[in-house]
Amino acid sequence: MNFTKLNLEPRLLQGIVDRGYTEMTDVQEQTLAKTLQGMDVAVQSQTGTGKTAAFLITLFERMFYEGAHKRKMALVIVPTRELAVQITKEAQLLNHHMGFKIASFYGGVGYHAQLASLSKGLDIVIGTPGRLLDLSERGHLKLKNIGRLVIDEADRLFDMGFLPDIKRLLQKMPPRNARQSMLFSATMNRISRKIALENLNRPVFIEVTPERLTVDTILQELYYVKSHIKMNLMLGILKAQAPQNALIFTNMRHTAFRLSKKLQSNGFHSRHLTGDLPQNQRLKIIDAFTRGKFALLVATDVAARGLHIDNLEMVINYDLPQDCENYVHRIGRTARAGNSGKAVSFASEGTADHLKAIESFISMKIPVQTADIDLFATDRSLESSSRNRYQNFKSNNGRSNFTSKNKHRKKVKSYYGITKVDARNRLAGLEKS
Ligand code: ADP
Ligand code: MG
Repeated sequence: MNFTKLNLEPRLLQGIVDRGYTEMTDVQEQTLAKTLQGMDVAVQSQTGTGKTAAFLITLFERMFYEGAHKRKMALVIVPTRELAVQITKEAQLLNHHMGFKIASFYGGVGYHAQLASLSKGLDIVIGTPGRLLDLSERGHLKLKNIGRLVIDEADRLFDMGFLPDIKRLLQKMPPRNARQSMLFSATMNRISRKIALENLNRPVFIEVTPERLTVDTILQELYYVKSHIKMNLMLGILKAQAPQNALIFTNMRHTAFRLSKKLQSNGFHSRHLTGDLPQNQRLKIIDAFTRGKFALLVATDVAARGLHIDNLEMVINYDLPQDCENYVHRIGRTARAGNSGKAVSFASEGTADHLKAIESFISMKIPVQTADIDLFATDRSLESSSRNRYQNFKSNNGRSNFTSKNKHRKKVKSYYGITKVDARNRLAGLEKS
């Protein structure tokens, strides 16, 4: 069904049209049918189906008709900063012709700018539980004035241990019959259902269940490959298929970092995204990737949820995830809103045993591809490190690194009376005690 059929406020409809949306997605159609009448909903629908616009359009349309004098603030609770930023962007786009005041609040960013925007009065507040609670307890955020509530990615919020925070936030809000509340989740587990039943006002449960958990438009492939040649296979696949962009997942931060460096040595534009990077840097990286400034993003599961990149062509599971749900979230980054996409996974010693759980979770076997010998490409990052070694060798006037290292060690020894290795061992001993 087309958005024009909803009889929305023309300025809101214009924002939707400008955003490039014409037909509603299933979840939008089913949700808006209830929420535009003021009903509460608990919605389960897989990632990438357009839940964000479903609740934002509700908030805008309902606020619009409340009129400025009676209008109450809407609160959107999300699990991560990245998601808060993304939803805020989407909201600003839809808001283009209306001028509602929207702001986001999350940890890791200074208070001052955030407080300034709060004191001006806001229509929509989007934030992570910890920061929202903080602001409310310091008296800056008046939760008693909330007229509408959205809990987004409920399953994720509860997985991350935010349940106590959410409960405290809910206690500070008006009773459920004095606000409109909406809960959205990719999966509706026992906790999400319980929270919905206890805190929503006679909610309508909406379930948009696909046949399988994975998006049907994603072409999935699995390669069995020894871990020491995974890099060669990935390089070969990237060269053969030349995707415009690809999101590459590793299980460990240091692998993400190393992989990105290696890709750079092989002539690819790549960056890494891991949880230990400062917040503003992470946002910058995501933004640059979204805008196509570089082609390959190597990430840990921090980036698996919520991150949306229009037209992501390929997801590579360099390491198969340990958590089967993460497999779905990772590959769900591609094939968003009806685009097709490809997900390539490597099963190696150490990760192949994750496969059974993943395949039973998605109730299908991932089609196995055999890698032809031609598909493996040379890893030039190894060449460059051996070239460096050769350069060192030359600059040492033909003496090998080994002798120069020994000489260095002797120097260190004469200075401290111990070798560097000894010193390191002693330090390690100290750290342990
Ligand atoms: P979810 O929250 O369900 O995971 P999102 O709200 O992030 O999904 O939407 C996924 C993608 O679909 C986004 O890129 C969004 O811009 C796009 N999208 C949402 N609604 C529509 C629509 N009606 N038509 C086309 N694209 C849409
Ligand atoms: Mg979402």
